[in-house]
Amino acid sequence: MPELPEVETTRRGLAPHLEGKRIRGVVLRRPDLRWPIPKEIQSMLPGQRIDAVRRRAKYLLLDTEAGSALLHLGMTGSLRVLPASTPVNAHDHVDFALSSGRVMRFNDPRRFGCLLWQPAGETHELLQALGPEPLSEEFHGDHLYERSRGRSAPVKTFLMDQRIVVGVGNIYAAESLFRAGISPLRAAGKVSHERYAALADAVKAILAHAITRGGTTLRDFISPDGAPGYFEQELSAYGRGGLPCPNCGRPLKYRDIGQRASVWCGHCQR
Ligand SMILES: [Zn+2]
Repeated sequence: MPELPEVETTRRGLAPHLEGKRIRGVVLRRPDLRWPIPKEIQSMLPGQRIDAVRRRAKYLLLDTEAGSALLHLGMTGSLRVLPASTPVNAHDHVDFALSSGRVMRFNDPRRFGCLLWQPAGETHELLQALGPEPLSEEFHGDHLYERSRGRSAPVKTFLMDQRIVVGVGNIYAAESLFRAGISPLRAAGKVSHERYAALADAVKAILAHAITRGGTTLRDFISPDGAPGYFEQELSAYGRGGLPCPNCGRPLKYRDIGQRASVWCGHCQR
């Protein structure tokens, strides 16, 4: 599943091919993805110039004067910029024809992705209750500490709550808690200020590193035959239940927390 680093890598890969270009037309090969595609996508976008390609949480926004196309890659979605003559394959659901002569093509086999419309000057309801971006200055240990007081939920569940901070999915929650030495089971309200500072630093470092690594896959976004650029992770905890802890060598524990598979070291994480 594309996580925040893949979505940010997608944004960086697409931006040079989209920004400043006009949308000549939009081809919809089906009326819906996860949700119906609103009529404004075809009625408002043609003729508009893409002023910016932005990311908020795991959503991409193509900003124009009339409003923004709001895209989510869901579980299996990918976006690529291709020559207009590229044959259409299965699951190629949407084309944005660009003034450069290329098309931006949205492929999504499982169709958990979405394409929605945000009128100019408005914030789509999906974006309204979101917490700060993890790589922004608004996200820090003080924020986690203040928002967690009185909460008995496990700290891992708290960290994955999009109202607290966006874009920390299961992989990055597990890896960040491992790096910060915090047990994922500890009640969020019982984690100290100092340890939340370490956790915020770990989240930022791990996400930033993953985005840097993703940069090597940028060419995939303009290659007709390239696979989507979801990248291999260097993982310490996630997916390694029962294997030796990279720090102490003891077997890593695993169990579901908040219905999500969770792995941690009972010795190194307290
Ligand atoms: Zn350990």
